[in-house]
Amino acid sequence: MTVTEGPAIEDRPRLASTDPRDGRTVGTVAVHDAADVVVAVARARTNQTDWGRRSPAERAHHLRRIRARLAVRARELAEVIASETGKPDFDAMAEVLSCAVLFTHTARRAPKVLAPEKVSSFPLYVKRAEIRYEPYGVVGVISPWNYPAFVPVQALSAVLAAGNTAVLKPSELTPLTGVLLAEIINEAGAPLVEVVTGDGVTGAALSSSGVDKIAFTGSPATARHILRAAAENLTPTVMELGGKDAMIVCDDADIAAAARTAVAGCFANAGQTCIAVERVLVTRRNHAAFRDAAVRAAQRVTVGPERTKHVGAITQPPQIDVIEQRLRDATAAGATILVGGRRRDDLGASFFEPTIVDDVRPDMALAREETFGPVLSIIPVDDVDDAVRVANDCDYGLAGSVFGRDRRVVDDVVERFATGAISINDALATALLPGLPFGGVRSSGFGRLHGDAGIREFAVPKAVATSRLAVLPGLTGSMFGSVRPSAAQVGTVLRVLWGRGASA
Ligand code: NAD
Repeated sequence: MTVTEGPAIEDRPRLASTDPRDGRTVGTVAVHDAADVVVAVARARTNQTDWGRRSPAERAHHLRRIRARLAVRARELAEVIASETGKPDFDAMAEVLSCAVLFTHTARRAPKVLAPEKVSSFPLYVKRAEIRYEPYGVVGVISPWNYPAFVPVQALSAVLAAGNTAVLKPSELTPLTGVLLAEIINEAGAPLVEVVTGDGVTGAALSSSGVDKIAFTGSPATARHILRAAAENLTPTVMELGGKDAMIVCDDADIAAAARTAVAGCFANAGQTCIAVERVLVTRRNHAAFRDAAVRAAQRVTVGPERTKHVGAITQPPQIDVIEQRLRDATAAGATILVGGRRRDDLGASFFEPTIVDDVRPDMALAREETFGPVLSIIPVDDVDDAVRVANDCDYGLAGSVFGRDRRVVDDVVERFATGAISINDALATALLPGLPFGGVRSSGFGRLHGDAGIREFAVPKAVATSRLAVLPGLTGSMFGSVRPSAAQVGTVLRVLWGRGASA
């Protein structure tokens, strides 16, 4: 299939999207410049007026129509995702399903989460206090290529539910997925998402365009550029960045289950998942058993361009050079490759064998930097305390997992593991439960998607105070009146009310 799509601006240069499995051109899109971005933002602003006036329930109803369009065009969308990323058909369709799940969840929750909320009017009980949730306006959504439909939908579902419209800047590696996604959303009956295509220059133009909020997903390096641009306009941002997720395997863990989960949690999407299991911290007692079980599990994993394989292409071919360099450095410093470790040019333009590396040390780049490829590092540790220390000694803190049977030990790990999410006796599970918030700490970013927090991320809480009885005078108007107490009287009241216990 060759697609030539995108906002038709005849005289713009064009960007080709290629299939990483064979280098074939999937289609081309216009490269939008700063002037095009301004036009797109203005259009989104016009479209927001009507959308923002609809009630959360009406908007939720519309999100279900979007979901219906997604379901009807699921195969088409999955085909474009698979072509641009080189991922297997199952993974591409699972991504479309995940988009539909997010729209479903958001449609269910948004009317409750965005309903006006009465709060305590302490200490002025003559007042009624209420929070109303209003849209920001236009949200700029800047996305990566690894889940080119799901990642934008993580933001878009909530952006739209909260009454905003959006300008989407998909990755230059997967622009056609972004264009088709927006088309599917808009054909549900309201023009809610504008798309601007191009590389980082187009993204930079969107960052400084004066949108009302930016939802960025990508690398910390790009995040810094966007934050600098956002600072100029004081544009609020939500940042979903990289990860170096660890699995902690406790002494009493089900080793076979942990190994199977680590292998799948690392190699899914060829390791190009922000919450991929990149590090396994296993106590020395279980080291050999875990290593053998992981090797057995990895031997069942298939790789190649055929669309039914478990592991597809590395979407960004130069990343293979990074992976190879990390492996060379690690093995030179004493690590051992147990499985894989080679590029597979015989399979196509961009394939790398699922790889397990043993005896990785916490100070190696392989253990510290995001690999973003199918490489699982086994790091032996002394005990659970050591595992927690190593897990936290990392710039990233996106998600993680812990395997163990003793609930007290597991809960203790959950408490001390400094990361945005933890799956117990599983991996990646938190991201598949849309009721849970999704987001990281430290270099993994800030702000949240998914869950109630993810919906509120795109709503401005407006504080509203009113008198309980219309006849009561306003407080501020009485401030200079004759009943004004003296400062000494206020001091006495303060001491009587809250002065007890000060000597404790
Ligand atoms: P990237 O940062 O290179 O690019 C992301 C997007 O930013 C692209 O659309 C790109 O064109 C745009 N961009 C580049 N320079 C820009 C600039 N100066 N101003 C504005 N926009 C600019 O990331 P990538 O390689 O596409 O994606 C991989 C990264 O994304 C990994 O670090 C991965 O962990 C992360 N990621 C995080 C999550 C999450 O939810 N936390 C999810 C998926 C991917």
